[in-house]
Amino acid sequence: MRLRHLPLALALAAGCLAIGPAANASSSAAAFDAALAAGHAPAFALEYDGVMHRIAGLDQLEVELEGPDGQPGAIYAAQVDGRPATIVRLGDRLDIAYDDEKPSAAGRAKRSGEWIPDYAGLDDVAGMDDENPPDPEADQPGGDGLNVWIFLHDNANEPDNERFVNWYTAWWLKEMKNDVIPGKPVRVFLKTRVPGLTDLDYHAGTQVDRLHDVHLRGFEYVDGVGGHPGPLTRYMLFVDKPAGNWGSNAVGVALDRGKSAMASRTGPRHIVAHELGHTIGGVHEHAQTFPCASSMAGYVLATISCRWYTSANQRNIREFLTPLL
Ligand SMILES: [Zn+2]
Repeated sequence: MRLRHLPLALALAAGCLAIGPAANASSSAAAFDAALAAGHAPAFALEYDGVMHRIAGLDQLEVELEGPDGQPGAIYAAQVDGRPATIVRLGDRLDIAYDDEKPSAAGRAKRSGEWIPDYAGLDDVAGMDDENPPDPEADQPGGDGLNVWIFLHDNANEPDNERFVNWYTAWWLKEMKNDVIPGKPVRVFLKTRVPGLTDLDYHAGTQVDRLHDVHLRGFEYVDGVGGHPGPLTRYMLFVDKPAGNWGSNAVGVALDRGKSAMASRTGPRHIVAHELGHTIGGVHEHAQTFPCASSMAGYVLATISCRWYTSANQRNIREFLTPLL
């Protein structure tokens, strides 16, 4: 396969990076499980973040989620205190995010995607890589559906897996499942502490070489755990700080229609969807930036993430994926 690389540039604006893990996420998860086991769904009360909430209309999303411990997770749409929300249940923890929550809303730890009007400009340099790196999957059929393996760098500064999934991927999974490729399997695997990969020195050398490392080492890992890597397996390394070799202001990089990507938590909330989008047919040209930044938006000026691809990019991605599904 001929791989090209397309450095991403999103406007980079520093935000507060404080994280406030839900101190009682574990007890909330246990109570949530107990409520479901007792058949209290679709409505029950749940203590979360020290406050009692009313959970109703619980609807489990038909996507597969696996955490670092190999245990399956689950994503639910729900009404929480009458507001649309997404609940991620992963490991022994639980996270609730309101779908209509504004970045500045109280009660949620401020994250890197909630930038301030500190526009740093657009630096979106598309480069061509005419080399033909080894592609271990080129002749290897196998796997079905879109399988996204996200590896959290050891220094990613993302300690709460359930929050990570909810913040960056739950809404993307919902969009892929409901609007882009309905009826097709979509899976996210979140992995930590993978030697050679999550400790990768991604600052070294060139971004293309490091993206190839993510691809090859990701493949080795997935193959090693019996994950059946196939044509629609994608490997993402999620890191804290961007690398200098990404280019100034870039907060992520991806191989255009390739297998691998890297994303920084200094990017906006749609950074994972954006970089993955590059690997499955999304393009900047069909993005929008007003009144919100769609997921393939290449730069953002003090704008919140729409948390969806434009219909044109949904179509691009569908047309890319469908023959391979
Ligand atoms: Zn991009």
